[in-house]
Amino acid sequence: MKIAFIGLGNMGGGMAANLVKAGHEVSAFDLSEEAIARARENGCTTFGTVREAVQGVDAVVTMLPNGNIVRSVLTNDVIGHAPEGVLILDCSTIDVATVREMIDAATAAGYEMVDAPVSGGIAAANGGNLTFMVGGTDSAFARAQPVLEPMAKAVIRAGEAGAGQVAKMCNNMLLAAHMVGTCEAMKLAERNGLDPQKFYEISSKSTGYCWSLNDYTPVPNVGAASPADNDYNGGFAVALMLKDLRLAMAAAEASGARVPLGRKATEIYEEADKAGLGGKDFGSIFTTL
Ligand code: NAD
Repeated sequence: MKIAFIGLGNMGGGMAANLVKAGHEVSAFDLSEEAIARARENGCTTFGTVREAVQGVDAVVTMLPNGNIVRSVLTNDVIGHAPEGVLILDCSTIDVATVREMIDAATAAGYEMVDAPVSGGIAAANGGNLTFMVGGTDSAFARAQPVLEPMAKAVIRAGEAGAGQVAKMCNNMLLAAHMVGTCEAMKLAERNGLDPQKFYEISSKSTGYCWSLNDYTPVPNVGAASPADNDYNGGFAVALMLKDLRLAMAAAEASGARVPLGRKATEIYEEADKAGLGGKDFGSIFTTL
């Protein structure tokens, strides 16, 4: 297939490279010269504009920072410019309202479109191990599968348009909260004279079991290997978690869902961000306690 890939940053760069490795012809565009150069090294053909990159393609993938940028790229340069009937896949993490508006606009113009946000960080993007949660019609999902598979560990249809973004924000709100809970429990254990490694051994086999504790222990050199062992470098940044929490809080407000823990978690990550931890892994919440 010939696939246009727009947004070749930390995530998109590796994803586009995996499409090339799978034998697809990738037409790539990014605003950053550095990202463009890396894409070229990875076997993509690069273009000076989005409109040029989407000429003659079978599918268009976007992996962009936020909803306003996705709207601007799709409405100005993809819809009405990519060949009619093409499949559009937005893999960015954006708000549910914007992605639904985009899917409506794309459908009205004769395209099919899915939201396909991902779980997994830069290593998973580079390694082709992302989990995609996909929203859209059955037919759009069937067309999306072969495009996503070379970049994926799992491709799961969440439901209709926007359902992928709903799954993503709910998953990350849960992750944000159980990371805070894990950090608090580890700190409380330590303050009360229990060896954190011993607490890890016990709680990871008890009802405190959760991914943050078992697989991503946020205490340096305790439990599972994680960015905590490397001064909280790499991993999933506090600022990115905060972005996802804000999307969840906006959706909670719009839908009237009560999310007291999600709201508290948002405050905690906001404080960490203000304290200068925005670029550090989200397990660094441990250092704020
Ligand atoms: P990034 O900032 O590294 O990459 C975004 C890229 O988009 C940049 O290269 C930028 O130059 C480009 N860009 C911005 N505006 C553009 C435009 N108008 N046209 C073309 N290119 C443009 O971000 P990232 O970490 O790759 O994240 C991308 C998306 O994936 C975000 O929505 C993020 O929330 C989501 N996400 C990130 C992670 C992660 O761990 N980094 C994990 C899951 C999901």
